Order: sequence, then structure tokens, then C-alpha cells
Amino acid sequence: ETEVADYMKSMAIRVSGFDVPRPIKSFADCGFPVQLMNAIAKQGYEKPTTIQCQALPIVLSGRDIIGIAKTGSGKTAAFVLPMIFHIMDQPELEKDEGPIGVVCAPTRELAHQIYLEAKKFAKPYNLRVAAVYGGVSKFDQFKELKAGCEIVIATPGRLIDLLKMKALKMFRATYLVLDEADRMFDLGFEPQIRSIVGQIRPDRQTLLFSATMPYKVERLAREILTDPIRVTVGQVG
Ligand code: ADP
Ligand code: MG
Repeated sequence: ETEVADYMKSMAIRVSGFDVPRPIKSFADCGFPVQLMNAIAKQGYEKPTTIQCQALPIVLSGRDIIGIAKTGSGKTAAFVLPMIFHIMDQPELEKDEGPIGVVCAPTRELAHQIYLEAKKFAKPYNLRVAAVYGGVSKFDQFKELKAGCEIVIATPGRLIDLLKMKALKMFRATYLVLDEADRMFDLGFEPQIRSIVGQIRPDRQTLLFSATMPYKVERLAREILTDPIRVTVGQVG
């Protein structure tokens, strides 16, 4: 136990919550199948970043998480890798029943970056990833969602529009990520986020990532996460 405590101190990780899984030291500790390990190696990721060391075992255990770490710390893979793991276990359905993984991000640039990362890890499993955001044809996105996908990466406003158009169903969604939650709030997306969360089953796994935790984000986290573990890496303003 003191060994784990010393290790976490050296990594500047702070955690709160009960039954926190131990941090991992290598991707091999995650129990990922060989195709996913190969995809990680192909990306040139030799070992997990600090936030990944603590977030991966938490998310893989099915727990909700609040992850606070600065930009560039590797948060995307911390939610994308467990998302692939979560989805590849699910049975394939003949009929399209909607996405299993739903990721919300504040801007189209961020949504696109997450899309690219998700595509790389989803490829060996033939999982379909759709990215939906403003500035491009809503009709094309409607058609893409109608054709079916396992993962959707979206800005909140466009996702709401497409939900209203019944482009997708949410009842199969069990893995929800709110990335850069503070920026989504700054951009005024709180109502859209609340509406999206309200359309996803309450027994989902919910992940919230943010660079900062202002009061409004804290309040939302308290409302929509279940027994979350909070992980903070480094100095956070
Ligand atoms: P954040 O979301 O915390 O801002 P990103 O997920 O965008 O950070 O990652 C920042 C950069 O680090 C990206 O270029 C990403 O490819 C790279 N990266 C992520 N995880 C690893 C890793 N384990 N090893 C090496 N590079 C990584
Ligand atoms: Mg990020």
C-alpha cells in the first residue's frame, strides 16, 4: 500500500472515491486483446501517460470517473481505449439499434480529433465511428447515423438536432463521455448536455473530463455520475 502511495505521489496523481483500482504501469496490465495492443503499438504509444495509468483501470472496471488533467496529457486514449473494449464485447445486432458509445466535445475540431483517434483503435474490430458537428451537411450526417454506428462523437448542438430528426436512437447507449466539460459550459452547452444525458439510460457508465472544475461543472457531475472516482493529475487551476 505504501508502495502504491509513493508511486502515485511521484506521478502527482490525486484520487478520491471508494474502492479505487490500483494504477497500472503498462498497457499490458489492462488485459487488452492482441489486436488492440497492436493498434496501440502502431500509434507509437509505448507506455500509458500519467492520467492513463490511473484512469484506464478505473474505467475498465466499469466505474464512473471525473478526470482532471491539463491539455496534452493523453485524456483521449484514456476514454477511447476502454470504449472499444466496452463495445467489442457486445453482441452484433442485425437491426441498427443506435450507438453504444457517445462522446460529446465542445468544438468540431475537438470532435474531429477524437474521431481520428477512435477510428484507429476501432479499425481492427470494424466498429463504425460517426462524427457529427456543425458546419457540415446535416443531411449527410443524418444518412450516416441512419446507416448505423457503434460510436458517435458529437458537438452537443448538432447531436440534439439529429436526435430531434430521429437520426439515431439512444437506448443502446451505455458509455457516455463528456470531454472538455468546462469548455462545453463556457460555450453555453449546459442545456444541450442535460438533454442528451436525459435521453441515455441511467445505468450507463459516465466519464467526465475537464481541465478545470468550476462550480457549474461540479454540480452537473454530482447530478449525472454515480459514485465517481475523481482523478486529478498535476497542478490544476
Ligand atoms: P488531452 O486530451 O489530454 O489534451 P490528447 O489525448 O489529445 O490529450 O493527447 C495528446 C497527445 O499525446 C496526442 O498527440 C496523443 O496522440 C499523444 N498520446 C496520448 N497517449 C499517449 C501515450 N500513451 N504515449 C505517447 N503519446 C501519447
Ligand atoms: Mg482532449
